[in-house]
Amino acid sequence: MTQSHHSHYDVFVRNVRHSSRIELSQTALAKNINFLKKKLGNHPRYSAVVKANAYGHGIPQMVKMLEKCGVNHFSAASAYEAEEVLEHCADSSEIMIMGILYDQDIEWVIQNDIEFYVFSYDRLQLVLEKARKLKKKAKVHLEVETGTNRTGMTEPYFKKSLTLLKRNEEHFLFQGVCTHLGGAESPSNQFRIDQQLVRYKKYLAELTKRKIMPKYRHIACSAAVLAMPETHYDLVRIGVATYGFWPSPDIYYQHIREVGKDKDAPMNRIISWKTDVMDIKNVPQGEFIGYGTAFQASREMRVAVIPVGYSNGYPRGQSNNGHVLIQGRKAPITGLINMNLFMVDITDIPGVEIGDEVVLLGKQHNNTIRVSSFTNYTQLINNEMLSRLPMAIPRQIVK
Ligand SMILES: *Cc1c(COP(=O)(O)O)cnc(C)c1O
Repeated sequence: MTQSHHSHYDVFVRNVRHSSRIELSQTALAKNINFLKKKLGNHPRYSAVVKANAYGHGIPQMVKMLEKCGVNHFSAASAYEAEEVLEHCADSSEIMIMGILYDQDIEWVIQNDIEFYVFSYDRLQLVLEKARKLKKKAKVHLEVETGTNRTGMTEPYFKKSLTLLKRNEEHFLFQGVCTHLGGAESPSNQFRIDQQLVRYKKYLAELTKRKIMPKYRHIACSAAVLAMPETHYDLVRIGVATYGFWPSPDIYYQHIREVGKDKDAPMNRIISWKTDVMDIKNVPQGEFIGYGTAFQASREMRVAVIPVGYSNGYPRGQSNNGHVLIQGRKAPITGLINMNLFMVDITDIPGVEIGDEVVLLGKQHNNTIRVSSFTNYTQLINNEMLSRLPMAIPRQIVK
């Protein structure tokens, strides 16, 4: 067992409490998966993208929750993450590495039946060598370059790779031919996506010509799944939508246009983040709160101290901005977000006591704090905020 797994177990065996907690709703996840599976119909396989600690939700919990919803294919960004998925998934589930795999880890990956992207001919030759040595088939996906210009092999290398695969069939399982779209969530990228689709089809034509077919052709991320049915092929890699987030306002409005309903909510956020009031202070008028002069009390105030700071993933940019929920009411942030603390104004919320529940993200009574309220509705930054929630925060599955 590696260190990473010990650290996760540590969270569960500690005798004392962490300063905050994350709750994950199984019901919300089931709703998201149902909606997305309806979009997909019967054919394409659902691969849940669980990179970045499952978009900050927590790999150990998400893997279990997803399996309960019938999802049993997981996409990780690295071998390191794949090992964590392996530790927590059912024996029958499958894992795919879309990104970094070091040479020295190739044998481990083959040994553990983990699928992985190959985006260079040199890498494929090395994989062949390892598979031969281990006498075990390597499960490879050839990633092709279609215009994102990240990883992906160009056509000449793709052709050479196909020849190598065909000649060494006893050492490979040809799992996939794939690419990633450069911005499917925004209509302004449509010209680029269209070009990628044309190029991808050229690679597919080469497969037909050679009468060699991978198990899965796959290119779709969440936005493509929701808005471009022609991209579904045989497997889809769904990240952000799995967690109940629309990839962009454009994709959401396209959905609303299709269903014709104004308040349709087929997907729900599954994450809530909570802590407790640590202390309460009466602050005389004119005093400064916290470090520096960022916040001066303009009246006599009552403030609550919250035991969470930027080291716990609470964005420092929220300083003097935004709010938390206490007793179902909004308590505005006063002053700077410190490393492990910040203060909120509870002058207008009577009866708050030390130990009261504080909602940083999610619902309390009739109020909700959304991730988007942290990020000015910018989807890319949604992912950024979520994926920075520290692994050490305990995650609990709730109904
Ligand atoms: C992150 C990622 C996805 C998932 O993207 P979402 O927009 O979150 O669904 C799919 N494929 C690859 C290669 C990725 O890196």
